[in-house]
Amino acid sequence: MVILLNENYHVCTGCALLCDDIEVVIDANVITEIKTACRKGVSRMKGCNDPMSPTVEGQQVDIDVAIGAAADILKNSESPLIFGLGNSTDGAQKKAIELAKHIGAILDDTSSFCQGPTLEAIFNDKIKSCTLDDVRNKADVIVYWGADPSNSHPRHLSKFSYFPRGQERQRGWEEDRTMISIDIRKSHTAKISGDKFHQIPLQADEEFIDALIDALSGKVPKVPFEYDPKRILELANIMKNARFGIIFVGLGLVYSLDNMDPIVKLMDKLNELSNFHLIPMVGHYNMRGFNQNLFNETGHLNRVKFEKGNNTKVQHGAEFSIVESLNEKKVDAALIIGSDPLSSLPRAVADHLLNIPIITIDPCETFTSRKAKVTIPSALSGVECGGSAIRMDGEEVMFEPIIETTTLSDEEILTRIMEAL
Ligand code: SF4
Repeated sequence: MVILLNENYHVCTGCALLCDDIEVVIDANVITEIKTACRKGVSRMKGCNDPMSPTVEGQQVDIDVAIGAAADILKNSESPLIFGLGNSTDGAQKKAIELAKHIGAILDDTSSFCQGPTLEAIFNDKIKSCTLDDVRNKADVIVYWGADPSNSHPRHLSKFSYFPRGQERQRGWEEDRTMISIDIRKSHTAKISGDKFHQIPLQADEEFIDALIDALSGKVPKVPFEYDPKRILELANIMKNARFGIIFVGLGLVYSLDNMDPIVKLMDKLNELSNFHLIPMVGHYNMRGFNQNLFNETGHLNRVKFEKGNNTKVQHGAEFSIVESLNEKKVDAALIIGSDPLSSLPRAVADHLLNIPIITIDPCETFTSRKAKVTIPSALSGVECGGSAIRMDGEEVMFEPIIETTTLSDEEILTRIMEAL
C-alpha cells in the first residue's frame, strides 16, 4: 500500500514513524508554526542549527566545484565506501546503489550494527510482521521489548499502538488493550505499562526468552536470575490468549542477542498458540527503505561490495560492513550521506576513516563533515524536498516539499556526481 498525502498535511521525517498528519503555518517561505508533530519532529522540521556549506579542503566553494572535487576523489579511488542513506529518500538510495555499482564501492548503512538482523528475518519470511495500521485496528496485546518509544518515537503509542481506538478495538487502552514492557530499566514507556513491566538484568534477554518459551509450553520456567516464575507464567498466559499480538523490538533486545534465533523460536511458539507479529523499532526515517531497495536489487540488505564495471557481480558479508572495511583498511575514500559515523564508531575504527578522503552530503554540519575533504549541503527531506520513504512497518509514504529552496536534494547531488565521473 502507498500512503498518499492529503494536501493540507505534511510528513515528518524525524523518525521512521513518518507521521503524515503534520500541519504547518508558512510565512514568506519560512515555517513559523508546526502543529501535531512531537518535540523531536518539530526540531527536525525547524532545520539545522549549523547548516552545511559547500567546501573543499575547508574552503567555501561553489557547489559545482564541490561536486567536481567529490567526483575526482571517487574516480581516483581503488576501493571506495558509500555509507549512510537512512535519512535519504528512496530516489536518492536507488541513485546511490547505481553509483556504487558504477565505481565498484562497498555499500553499507547503520542497519549493519542495529536492526539489520531483524529486518533480514522479516524480508526472508522467518518472522511474521504486519502494518502499524493493523496494530491500531486490531492489536490487543502490545509488547515493547528493549524499546522506549516515548523518547525514540514519541507518537508511537498515541498514533498506532496503545492509546488509539481502532476498528476492532473501540474501547481503547482502558479495556481493549494490554501493554507490556520488557526492559533493563524502568523507562518512560515501562512506566505506562504499570504492573505489566518486566525488569530483567542486562544481557539476560535470551534467558528470559527461554523461560517464556518454557512457560508457553506449559512447563515451570527456569529463570537463571532472581525472578518470580509466577510473573513469567502470567506473561505467557496473556500472550497466548492474544487475538492479535505485536512485539515491537528495540535496540535493547537486538544488542543483547548474538543472532535472531531466540526471537524466531519465540515467534514460532507464539504462533502455534495465538497470532503474533513483530515490527522492528527502526530509528532513521528511511533506513528500512535503504534495506528494502538494496534487497530488491541484490538480495542483501547491507554490507555489499560491487565489482567495478560489472553491474551484476556483488559480494556480501561482515567483511564489507563499515566497521570491518575500515578496520582492515580495505577502503581508500568514503562518501558519507546523511550520517555521522565519526561520532559513533569506536576510536580505532574511526582512525582509518580520518586517514582517507571523506566526502559528506548532509543538510547539517556534523562531526564527520568537519573532518571531510569535501562537503556538499543537501535539502532537508520532507521540508525542502519531496520523495518517498518506507515506514518502520514496510509501508511506502510519499511526501512533498513544504518550502522552496535552491539547495539540491541528495538524489540531485548523486546524479550530478555520476555525470561528473
Ligand atoms: S513520532 Fe517521529 S515522525 Fe512522528 S512527529 Fe515525532 S519525530 Fe516526527
